[in-house]
Amino acid sequence: MSTTPVTVIGLGPMGRAMAAALIRAGHPVTVWNRTASRADELVAQGATLAATPADAVAAGELIILSLTDYPAMYDILGPATDGLAGKTLANLSSDTPDASREAAAWTEKHGGAFLTGGAMVPPPMIGTPDAYVFYSGPRELLDEHEPVLKVIGEPRYVGADHGLAQLFYQAHLDVFLTSLSSLLHATALITSAGVPAADFLPGALKTLTAIPAMIGTGHELAESLEKGEHPGDLNTAIMMGATAEHIVRTSEAVGVDVGLPEAVKSQYDRAIAAGRGTENWTALYEVIKA
Ligand code: NDP
Repeated sequence: MSTTPVTVIGLGPMGRAMAAALIRAGHPVTVWNRTASRADELVAQGATLAATPADAVAAGELIILSLTDYPAMYDILGPATDGLAGKTLANLSSDTPDASREAAAWTEKHGGAFLTGGAMVPPPMIGTPDAYVFYSGPRELLDEHEPVLKVIGEPRYVGADHGLAQLFYQAHLDVFLTSLSSLLHATALITSAGVPAADFLPGALKTLTAIPAMIGTGHELAESLEKGEHPGDLNTAIMMGATAEHIVRTSEAVGVDVGLPEAVKSQYDRAIAAGRGTENWTALYEVIKA
């Protein structure tokens, strides 16, 4: 059992799951949340509810933040900066890479140290062997706090730049959110014909898992994107672009939102207009980067 005292600030579903995992691992855990009642279950499990953010900061060597965004961190810790000297903040909240860089500079100005974290699993998976968290900031700081942080999920270090863990988090969420929206859009298309969603969604999930089968481990795709070479005539931009247009027209015909398929179609249109129509669909990368 570790005795490193840890503070968790922000008790949404993620912060509660993190604090519960840390309590289970035997850490003395202090918590603080704007809405104090969200701490009730954790207090019953052994956490200490701090009366103020300053008390919460004083109680932990490591202060884990799990908030909606970074402005919330300043709202909470702005009046408690006197206690930050010698403390490490690990902010596992979503925001922009620049927000993480600015927060690191702000914390360091007040004598503290800062790690950016991006938790890659939903609350029920926190503390399980499948959980992982991207971190960036000083490597030695992560090494120092790894025994505590690994309780939440396997730490994956992505670099010294404080913005990087946020960027990795966002890039993964970019894939995730777009895929989730596409599932809902596609289901709306299907149900517009009176077909139950259940007749469609299990098959649609197989389409999602067919993507790795199509593009392999990602290494070949990475090489092609890095070289700017897009050989292959099985899935050309012209062929895929025509399908993208059909999805837009079908969506319009049945009165389903066209925002997502129009964005996809526009990428194909621009790749074809740039003379890349007979290249592999990966040529879209050239117009997306631009
Ligand atoms: P919630 O939105 O449920 O919780 C947010 C927390 O932030 C609450 O404790 C809330 O306090 C607090 N908060 C927000 N604004 C302020 C403010 N201005 N001042 C003080 N406190 C504030 O989020 P989650 O727990 O779901 O997520 C936390 C972070 O983890 C987010 O950045 C999210 O993107 C990320 N994440 C979430 C995942 C998920 O599946 N939920 C998965 C991976 C990452 P109060 O209770 O008083 O409202």
